[in-house]
Amino acid sequence: MKNKNNYDYLLSDLTKLNGVGKKTMEILKKKKINNIFDLLWRLPKSYTDRSLTSKVKDLHIGKIQTIRIIPSKYQFPRKRNLPNRVNCADETGKIDCIFFNSFEGYIRKILPLNCEVTISGKISIYKNKYQVTNPTYVSENSSLIETVHNKYSLTEGISEKVYNKIIGQILKNLPILNEWHNEKILSLFNYESWNNSIVKLHDPINIDNYKSSFYQRLVYDEILSSFIVNSEIRKKIKKIKKVSKKIDEKSYINVLNKLDFKLTNDQKKTLLEINNDLKSKSKMFRLLQGDVGSGKTIVSLITALNVIKSRFQVAFLAPTEILARQHFNLAKKLFPKNISIELLSSKTEPSRKRKIIDDLKNNQINMIFGTHAIFQKKIIFANLGYIIIDEQHKFGVRQRKLLSDKGGKNCDILLMSATPIPRTLTMTLYGDMDVSIIKEKPKNRKEVKTYSKLESKINDVIKFVKKELNEGNQVFWVCPLIEESKKVDHVSSIRKYELLNKLFPGKVGLLHGKIDHEEKERILNKFLINELSILVSTTVIEVGIDFPNANVIIIENANKFGLSQLHQLRGRVGRGNKQSTCILMFRSNLSVNATKRINILKNSNDGFAISEEDMKIRGFGDLLGFKQSGIKNFRLADPVQNEDLFLLAEKQIKEMESQNINMNKYKALLKLYDQADIINDIV
Ligand code: ADP
Ligand code: MG
Repeated sequence: MKNKNNYDYLLSDLTKLNGVGKKTMEILKKKKINNIFDLLWRLPKSYTDRSLTSKVKDLHIGKIQTIRIIPSKYQFPRKRNLPNRVNCADETGKIDCIFFNSFEGYIRKILPLNCEVTISGKISIYKNKYQVTNPTYVSENSSLIETVHNKYSLTEGISEKVYNKIIGQILKNLPILNEWHNEKILSLFNYESWNNSIVKLHDPINIDNYKSSFYQRLVYDEILSSFIVNSEIRKKIKKIKKVSKKIDEKSYINVLNKLDFKLTNDQKKTLLEINNDLKSKSKMFRLLQGDVGSGKTIVSLITALNVIKSRFQVAFLAPTEILARQHFNLAKKLFPKNISIELLSSKTEPSRKRKIIDDLKNNQINMIFGTHAIFQKKIIFANLGYIIIDEQHKFGVRQRKLLSDKGGKNCDILLMSATPIPRTLTMTLYGDMDVSIIKEKPKNRKEVKTYSKLESKINDVIKFVKKELNEGNQVFWVCPLIEESKKVDHVSSIRKYELLNKLFPGKVGLLHGKIDHEEKERILNKFLINELSILVSTTVIEVGIDFPNANVIIIENANKFGLSQLHQLRGRVGRGNKQSTCILMFRSNLSVNATKRINILKNSNDGFAISEEDMKIRGFGDLLGFKQSGIKNFRLADPVQNEDLFLLAEKQIKEMESQNINMNKYKALLKLYDQADIINDIV
């Protein structure tokens, strides 16, 4: 049944498959495999399949495998840069388990001598001996690993045989799709058609053949489809005609004069970009991106002035109330008195709240600050013309689109994010927006001095803290979550709090996941007005809040964080003109690699450069928690491995945008790869 350009088969649900029972279908559905196309990306023997156990003698180097072994000897060198090692074996051969940054006690517990244990991890070879570095799964009970893993494994409940039958059937019925790529692009992939590529992808001889043309082509298809969708969303928003705002630079000169600093060149540049958008007849949908402390707030506030002068209302959305209040106070200080500004928070008295709601409706309020609560249904704006959203890098493309629709056609939108991202990801994450970037830091900034310390040297750290407190400075003390004890993750922070509170009675505040919202805001506020000198917290200290008096941050167990996160945390200090310090604490000596990473941080204060390094080390998914944010997950493409293809796709999108290409050619690509609603408008 080969039907020209009939991609419907691929989009049909699983009932179209012959000989697939109800049970199998249900198993697949549970794995979010809803149609035939989804099945194509489950590669039966992909390297993450841990259900395949092996004997040591049959191990494949470079693959993730599961083996049953007996530990026979510990080697704990207790020397800097030398990892801990456990000699193990099964009846067919020897293998070592290697651990970086792990406690001896932990290793003894998970790999008890002379007991059979099952481990899973990537196999490598060193001095002619197999080894596994930091095995991912370790269990005394082999079936446990299989269950842990089987959740993700494609073969759970489906035999290899059945699976192969399904794939065989799909490959046989694969429709012939009209080529969407042009000659120039195709030539880069050795003219591999989509069909051929899919067939090759499922040929066992091609497993892990990431560099071959067929694989690269499929990767490129995936990237391009996502970029096209983003680009179309952006074009669609730009087509929305709005009443333009009048920009009068004189109106904010007074505000600038009230500041005790001059704007940086990048601040001026982004201010101009935003003003140009406000002034234009098309709706603005722009991201203002800049490292922590680069001074985005003042830029955004200034842009609000002209909108207000043009008789529109402005809404400023912050992720937390305390941050909303901080921005509100700044605006009150800077803006002319005839501009009416309000703050709506959960603490606002009901009667006052009712008045604010009324005044918003009657256009008596020019600018409102608050959390997402200002978008409740009962809140109606008379004439909303501008929404500013602070610190929302975790909004996905779809959420942003909804937001843009909500404001109505006359409403310009500015998102701000303090999360620098690698260059290759700009189109992936923000391709639907125009992007303004502040790279330059204010000139008065002193670099934050960054040190690493072993936890055993905590007394030195406390001595240092004492000295800083004597000088009237304030300190953040971060105790990250400890995986092994998820349920009691706040315990370490409570202990630290108790210890510090003994040393500095009444001067210490504590924040962790179990502390409720109001208490949290109360503590943050006390820290802000310097009633508390040390703030102990488990997780990330509220993004965006400006604590100009805090100049020391201590991060325990620092290897729990990626480089970008450490950089973000470090950005909490160094805002005033005092010398600031960041102390990274580690439980054990750092490996060579870890030392290299930490050195990047010590030597650089450029969030963009650090994010590039971070992505190379940790991959895209883990970078700054984008994984949890519903942001595009690629099936094959990998921003590190396929950097060239990401850049190529970006170039192609720019060409397509300037040439007004007919999208019909890409219909099958878009329908198959990205089933977003917008596609119906595109093709
Ligand atoms: P972020 O970009 O992280 O939101 P903020 O807007 O909170 O940064 O600014 C951080 C601090 O830097 C604030 O105290 C602000 O007053 C100050 N600041 C902003 N721009 C400048 C500048 N050009 N020169 C000196 N200080 C500045
Ligand atoms: Mg900010």
